[in-house]
Amino acid sequence: MAKTCKLCGNEFEPARRNNRLCSEACKRAAAVRRAKRWQADNPKKAAYNYQKAAANRRGIEWCFSFDEWVEWWGSDFDRRGSFAGGLVMARFGDSGPYSVENCYKCTMAENSSVTISKAKGERQHLSKLTEADVRQILSKPRVHGDGKRLAEKYGVATSTMCKILRREMWEHVA
Ligand SMILES: [Zn+2]
Repeated sequence: MAKTCKLCGNEFEPARRNNRLCSEACKRAAAVRRAKRWQADNPKKAAYNYQKAAANRRGIEWCFSFDEWVEWWGSDFDRRGSFAGGLVMARFGDSGPYSVENCYKCTMAENSSVTISKAKGERQHLSKLTEADVRQILSKPRVHGDGKRLAEKYGVATSTMCKILRREMWEHVA
């Protein structure tokens, strides 16, 4: 029995009883439409996925969890953009991973014209921790569950605290 394609409205003979679309082209178009709707409904998740994929394509390590990324952008989320006045995420010295500690916001124009030298630890203006904090953190013997507990105490992401404890971050602090 002929059906009406849910996308283009053409009549078609469904191969299976539950087919609602007439052709592969209509299936692809429907998938695109679904993806666009999802993006519109989840703008932050979509933008996060997009930036993460772009970093992967460029072979740059991506360390932001979605929550860290949302927090990093904060109220500037809607000012993001790759036009001259739009805000972009740049890496100190244009090297290393995309991470809370290694990134700063600047305008697209600044990003192309200014080279900001690589800063470490507390010299980075977005860092929440000081060298003294890190020394304090590292001075105590480690106990299971430290990462989460210390992250809450110092107001940083658990993933950040775990990297500090594993000496993968702030490794210059003795
Ligand atoms: Zn169709």
